[in-house]
Amino acid sequence: MPDHSERALATHAADAGALPEGIHRIALPTPFPIGRVNLYLLEGDPLTLVDTGVNTGTSLDTLEQVLAGLGHRLEDIEQILLTHEHVDHVGLSTVIAHRADCPVAAYAPLQALFDPDQDQGQITGARMGWGMAQLERNGYPHELTVGSLPAFHLMMALGSRPVIDLPLRHGDTVRAGGRDWEVRHRPGHSPSDVLFVDPSSGTALAGDHVLSGTSSNPILAPPLEVLVPDETTDRLPSLQLFVKSMQQTAADDLLLLLPGHGPLVGPPGELIAERLAFHDKRAEKFLEMLDASEPQTTYALATRMWKSVVLTQPSLTHSEVIGHLDLLIADERAREVPLADGVVGFIAT
Ligand SMILES: [Zn+2]
Repeated sequence: MPDHSERALATHAADAGALPEGIHRIALPTPFPIGRVNLYLLEGDPLTLVDTGVNTGTSLDTLEQVLAGLGHRLEDIEQILLTHEHVDHVGLSTVIAHRADCPVAAYAPLQALFDPDQDQGQITGARMGWGMAQLERNGYPHELTVGSLPAFHLMMALGSRPVIDLPLRHGDTVRAGGRDWEVRHRPGHSPSDVLFVDPSSGTALAGDHVLSGTSSNPILAPPLEVLVPDETTDRLPSLQLFVKSMQQTAADDLLLLLPGHGPLVGPPGELIAERLAFHDKRAEKFLEMLDASEPQTTYALATRMWKSVVLTQPSLTHSEVIGHLDLLIADERAREVPLADGVVGFIAT
């Protein structure tokens, strides 16, 4: 078995500072364009792993090699903390929790969503169906949404639905690696995004909330509390939530963010200002593309913006367009109008 641990522990030239004492970054491979996912091992009481990588044998082997190099076994892990629900962060959590017999802590509503006593087949099926219905409601052709189903299933296969033993709420404190971390709910990239903040050092375990290399997508989702969404379930205004969350984080006086991908981030104020400006500019661009009388679907807008990427990334392109339209709608600069067959379009007001 090749030893991948050196690469997984490598620092980035762009790291904005050093990792705090007793915290190790473990960058595990993923099959996604984003590249590696950062896990953090927090040494101290209790020995804690923050996020878990995708649910593959390679990912698990690499993690075990890295842990061994740091003097730990997988079985030594005493707690898993999850920054959010995405598969590259939760993938191995069930396997690790089982092997290490340790609790998993995450944002509280994930406890019901992942509850093994619920009909998980029904929940995942309904949530997948909800995503497809959202696409078709916004003009994405039926054959395209059906064609994207295998990609949804592949995503699910790389993930996990762990039992959440420690449900965390905004304002709670969780002990991990000899530090007390405050839980701050900062939704937008996903509904379950939390920051774990050590106020004494200004350090935050930040998941995908703010990344230095790329603007995190405001991924379309139904509310976490609606386990089995249907056509009447409204989407969360992901980008509006995200903007508000980033503004809160900018006001938090943080010195170092330990992100879910890429290099460590310093005081995030400037980067957040850049991200907010990027979203404003992109919203303006969509506004320019809108007409005052001829409604356009998000599919039409996404196709004009990204051409064939729409065919390979229907959900992501729709999430981006609808997120920016939500900003324009909130400013009363755009409006949703019904078209034929339950499809909706958008016009400038
Ligand atoms: Zn994510």
